[in-house]
Amino acid sequence: TLQPRCFENTPALWQKLLPAPDVDTHKYRRGHVAVFSGDATATGAARLSALAAARSGAGAVTLLSPAEALAVNAAHLTSIMLSRCDHMEDLRSFIEKRKPSAFVLGPGFGIGETARKFALSLLQDQADKLVFDADAMTSFQDHPDILFAAARKSPSTRLVLTPHEGEFKRLFPDVVETKMPSKLERARAAAVRAGAVIVYKGADTVIASPDGRAAINANGTPLLATAGSGDVLAGLTGGLLAQGMPPYEAACAAVFIHGAAARRLGFGLIAEDLPAAAAKVIAGLLGNLIE
Ligand code: AMP
Ligand code: MG
Repeated sequence: TLQPRCFENTPALWQKLLPAPDVDTHKYRRGHVAVFSGDATATGAARLSALAAARSGAGAVTLLSPAEALAVNAAHLTSIMLSRCDHMEDLRSFIEKRKPSAFVLGPGFGIGETARKFALSLLQDQADKLVFDADAMTSFQDHPDILFAAARKSPSTRLVLTPHEGEFKRLFPDVVETKMPSKLERARAAAVRAGAVIVYKGADTVIASPDGRAAINANGTPLLATAGSGDVLAGLTGGLLAQGMPPYEAACAAVFIHGAAARRLGFGLIAEDLPAAAAKVIAGLLGNLIE
């Protein structure tokens, strides 16, 4: 059988699909991203994702926060909106009223039933683009098939999963057990299994789509091995999805932009620095499309 080709993740794969604002656009047409915050003890990760989504060019970002974390989130946000979200009813009425175009669930969220409920409900809705990172994946470690079955029901791929090595092992133990020698093959198998674009993170991040496309990222840097850096990547991905970029291209672009932002910042970068640097990278990639 023919092995599908794998590409190096360069802008040639997706640059034409990078979202640039029309002259007559407005904030909600530029995409509205909703990011779920964790409880009062773990809010920073979701704020990093939200900030990255905003810096990716999305017109509006809302942080969905449990009541107990509203105060701490409010104290740390300015351009990002805040909305209380404790229960399924809160989520449903938010979606109905505010019509977000993408969701980011997982960073700092906490592992358990609430994450599973929100995740499955978002998948059943069929409407929006979704990024499940961190705790959104780990919450399904005992029954990953429940997550995958829900994702595969969608008529087209609209879920991006962003596991690092540990999260990948928890979610795809059977793929790991097959002992496929290459990370590329494991990522491809996981994408088909999950019905989702997989961003298999690490020094050599692989992006794989259930349709067989795959790319290996080459601009990573160990400077990204810092707390919160994955949360920024999830937010960048959600921001590009919300602006209408297709999931595979959005994931590839986000990974490349993340690496380029880190290289631009250099030694000593912390996750907080990445969103603004990512915006500069995107501006460079858009070139004279925005002035
Ligand atoms: P997380 O583990 O969720 O915080 O995500 C870490 C992010 O940093 C991912 O985007 C990784 O691909 C990236 N990263 C971590 N370590 C390295 C490394 N040694 N070289 C390149 N990228 C890395
Ligand atoms: Mg992470």
